[in-house]
Amino acid sequence: MSTDVYPVPDELARTISQRFGEDPHGRRFPWNRHTGGHLGQDYPCPVGTPVRAIADGTVLWADWGHKITDDELERKAVLPDNSSEEGGFCVYIDHGDWISCYAHLSHRYPAAGERVTRGQVIGLSGNTGQSTGPHLHFECILEARVDLAPGKVAGILWARYDPQLQIDAENKAAALAAARAAARPVTPRHAIAPAGLFWIVDPGDTLGGIAAHYGKTIAELAQHNGIRHPDRIEVGQRILIPGAVVHTVTAADVASPQGVAAAIGGQYGLSGEHIMHLNGWTVSTIVYAGNRAWVQKG
Ligand SMILES: [Zn+2]
Repeated sequence: MSTDVYPVPDELARTISQRFGEDPHGRRFPWNRHTGGHLGQDYPCPVGTPVRAIADGTVLWADWGHKITDDELERKAVLPDNSSEEGGFCVYIDHGDWISCYAHLSHRYPAAGERVTRGQVIGLSGNTGQSTGPHLHFECILEARVDLAPGKVAGILWARYDPQLQIDAENKAAALAAARAAARPVTPRHAIAPAGLFWIVDPGDTLGGIAAHYGKTIAELAQHNGIRHPDRIEVGQRILIPGAVVHTVTAADVASPQGVAAAIGGQYGLSGEHIMHLNGWTVSTIVYAGNRAWVQKG
């Protein structure tokens, strides 16, 4: 047995019910709609199983996931796009250049800001949030630099990677570097970056289809991205969308009797449907103050 620390007791760590990246098209579970499938690794375990920090760090968050706002975690994590109630009761631990996340907990011990050590019990497993049964959902998150487009500034974003890399690897630094190189954005289809909003090309996408989605022309997208042959875009390529602005959701937006999407849209001369479509929201998406919404300039 190695000296690796698992997030659950060793005898439970051998059984993984869903691995990172499984269900890549989100057909089985609607909340796996993020690019790349399952964002973490699931360990089935009875409610109340001790959950351990897999490395030394500082607690970033220990509470209901849905209370986290992008602003609060600006430097540290971007949660699955406006739908962080999925994780239930969560603990996030900052390890410097990566973050671990322990979700669906029933109880947590440390509070935000406390130091924890490797192997320390930080909570008890549970079945909170969107969970199909008692288990620990464990994620590893890192800050990744991505090239947005030729000649454009690279963007920084938060990406999930395979937690097994972090658990197994003898050379953690090499594992982290590999994960960083393979990192993809986690928000559905489009992602946040300082340079603006961009679309990640999926199989079957065309520049015309992407342009139509954002109310742009092919020529506008081609010029903005330095694309010489609009019929030759590649899967995984990131297409910057010109003129998109971000709106930080306010408490007044959330409380609006007409609904949050309509309230946001009204401030930009847009319909609520447009806002929902642009952000990939569905009627069941819960939007909180502090979340970010993409708004196309009129
Ligand atoms: Zn999971």
